[in-house]
Amino acid sequence: MLNYDALVIGAGYIGCAVAHDLSEAGLRTALLDRGPVAAGASRANYGNVQVQDAELEHSLSMIMAGFERFANLEARLGRDVGLRKLGSLLLIENEAQWRRMEARLPALHAAGVEAELIPAKYLPEVEPLLDPASALGACYHPHEAQVNPFALIWAYVAAGQEKGLDVHHGVEVTGFEMRGGRVKGVRTHQGTFSCDMVALCTGAWTPQLARLLGREWAISHVRGQAIVTERSHLRLQNHVASAAFFEEAQPTLSSSGRIVETEAASEKAILAISQTAEGHFLLGEAALVTDRLDSTATIAGQSAIARLVERHFPAVRGLRVLRGWAAPVAYTDDELPFFGPVDGIERLFVAAAFKSTVIVTPLVGETVAQWALDGRTDLDLTPFSPDRSLRHVH
Ligand SMILES: Cc1cc2nc3c(=O)[nH]c(=O)nc-3n(C[C@H](O)[C@H](O)[C@H](O)COP(=O)(O)OP(=O)(O)OC[C@H]3O[C@@H](n4cnc5c(N)ncnc54)[C@H](O)[C@@H]3O)c2cc1C
Repeated sequence: MLNYDALVIGAGYIGCAVAHDLSEAGLRTALLDRGPVAAGASRANYGNVQVQDAELEHSLSMIMAGFERFANLEARLGRDVGLRKLGSLLLIENEAQWRRMEARLPALHAAGVEAELIPAKYLPEVEPLLDPASALGACYHPHEAQVNPFALIWAYVAAGQEKGLDVHHGVEVTGFEMRGGRVKGVRTHQGTFSCDMVALCTGAWTPQLARLLGREWAISHVRGQAIVTERSHLRLQNHVASAAFFEEAQPTLSSSGRIVETEAASEKAILAISQTAEGHFLLGEAALVTDRLDSTATIAGQSAIARLVERHFPAVRGLRVLRGWAAPVAYTDDELPFFGPVDGIERLFVAAAFKSTVIVTPLVGETVAQWALDGRTDLDLTPFSPDRSLRHVH
């Protein structure tokens, strides 16, 4: 039996940051993942450090605090993570989306976030590659950023290992060891790991692990798909997504309440286009609400992305596609994460289902480490409690 102060389950952005910060705080820490590092949603993303899609009521101050942490993150980890400034545009295609984006502005401005609505005729000034006839306008956030996703995740792992972190990949957690209402370890096919605390950073898989603890947590997921092109001399100026990301997912349900993956839903994509620092276009996103935890890219999804991108960005037509991928991405009905300790299970902390994950990553690590050492956090986690009552999307 291996014995640690802290076990972190799930080696995505969140788990790697948490494991690093716990090691830095001097706790003997192990990071466990059923696959390799970044086996889940974290291998699928663009690395955008984004404010644009923030939930405004409870999350904005956390997101802004997360953003501030990026200023010295490379120095802190002693590694280049490809951090660069980038603007973002949320494309608006109808009046309802315009009103929705307009309604967000006062809260954003009050929090000190620069954001403005730009009518279509001015869009070429901020994003020359975009066909302005394909939108009514956009909500522009000039001050966001991007990292290289793998560089950031590996920076956390490598810096953590320098501070004593043990990484166990290919180790699936299949049960929990409990004593007197307190979590004391986890069971895996490779044996039992004992510990003084567990951080659950398992993204879309979190409900599966919750069931092992006798809990039903209303975390849903979409299977998000994207494609990457060859390098191009064309330069995208911003990360561009669609205001349609704010519209509620309405899956078709069978009489037994299971999600039916209809053909129409499988062919749906919502615009999300970015570019890597090296010039590859990242094109997405087909996002299918599903109850299957699979990572299979589909022809229907990939074709839907291509059609959508061609409509808004005719200039990228003809670029060769290198590969496509899919991954399950967690979300909740109230757009708030599961972030905090759990009533009735001592020394268990959950950190999953963040709406925008990259931007909060350093803050989440710091918060879990503070809780582990002091039993309290500077951040008010009440709205994010895993014990809140919440409608399951399916
Ligand atoms: C195309 C696309 C683009 C995106 N772009 C962005 C972006 O630019 N910015 C942004 O902020 N977000 C983006 N996202 C979303 C982002 O990728 C996710 O929100 C984020 O990766 C979630 O990270 P995580 O660490 O919470 O979970 P995950 O990365 O999913 O990690 C969970 C881990 O838990 C492990 N696990 C599960 N069960 C077990 C078990 N029983 N035992 C051991 N290990 C287990 C899994 O193997 C997995 O590695 C994008 C998503 C997609 C699909």
